Amino acid sequence: MRIPAFLPRIIGIANIVVLTVALIGLSLLPGDPRPQARQEPGAATPPASPRPSLAPVGQPPGVVATPEFARQVRANEAGRVPVLMYHRILRKRRAPLDRTPGQLRKELEKLAERGYVPITAREFVTGDIHVPAGKFPVVLTFDDGHPSHFGLDAAGNPLPGTAVAVIQEVAARHPGFRPVATFWVNREPFGLRERGAQEAAVRWLVEHGYEVANHTWAHPNLRLLKRKKVAEQIVRVERLLKKLGAPPSTTMALPYGSPPRDRKAARAGAWDGTRYDFAGVFLAGAEPSLSPYAKKFDRGAIQRIQSNGMKGECRKWCSQHWLDWLDEHPGERYVSDGDPRRISVPRERRGKIVAKRGLQVIAY
Ligand SMILES: [Zn+2]
Repeated sequence: MRIPAFLPRIIGIANIVVLTVALIGLSLLPGDPRPQARQEPGAATPPASPRPSLAPVGQPPGVVATPEFARQVRANEAGRVPVLMYHRILRKRRAPLDRTPGQLRKELEKLAERGYVPITAREFVTGDIHVPAGKFPVVLTFDDGHPSHFGLDAAGNPLPGTAVAVIQEVAARHPGFRPVATFWVNREPFGLRERGAQEAAVRWLVEHGYEVANHTWAHPNLRLLKRKKVAEQIVRVERLLKKLGAPPSTTMALPYGSPPRDRKAARAGAWDGTRYDFAGVFLAGAEPSLSPYAKKFDRGAIQRIQSNGMKGECRKWCSQHWLDWLDEHPGERYVSDGDPRRISVPRERRGKIVAKRGLQVIAY
């Protein structure tokens, strides 16, 4: 993130205070702490006005977990994480994949009330997960860089009704709900043609903790392309994003969820002297992802869930179904220990994870 150095420190200190208070509160509770039923402390000062808070959002520093603490909050960092997939956000839906701003808001409020905290796709695949103890990470992803995802008004704020405006509004009302998401874009990010407007949009998103990353230049079916053409499609977007001030993409989403014949070509490669190497490549369906610490986690084919109701096939693979399923199968869900430096799992799950990047494992 490109945010002034002092801001994350202030936010960090505020969060240490809040988390310490939360931790002491939790340790004083007799017996079952039922952490997901507790009020999320989140931001130290909730906004006084209904106007969405646009303060930059950093990652909270977290706590130091112990086996006792991990057991108390029922931490399970071997569990599944919903990576929700959105396309256009339109007041009048024109295709089954479209969602209305009202449907998006309702789903985000449901997530906030059920104890989910958004992280970006980059944070997810790199295991850089800072979610308070007892809470669940969720990844909000938006494909195709549609104008309904983001735009700035004359005052430099997110246009009302766009996905980002809805996310910011929900976060302002639910202080534990971190307003971040991932936008996978093509050659015209957010439908903007003018370079200056593209730059302003990408800058706002990156400064506010959102991720803008690669969805290929022209959205082809990569399965039909030769390896060199696959690389060209990816590199052209990397060069555009670099010009717009975004960091190199850590993640990409496959157009139509369709991998190239040589799957590895989507993950890493080079064209015309420019290289790319993603930590995660995302599919278009159809179930909660494995934990990024799971031995079976396939970072070349990461599962997502289409945001939608229960009509037709959606009964089995869209978000309403899977969010209910995760509530009904709490043992299968990723539950954070609140400690980004340790991976906490119930003892019987120890064999299912790999400890990476020197992260310490707590098996309780
Ligand atoms: Zn797409």
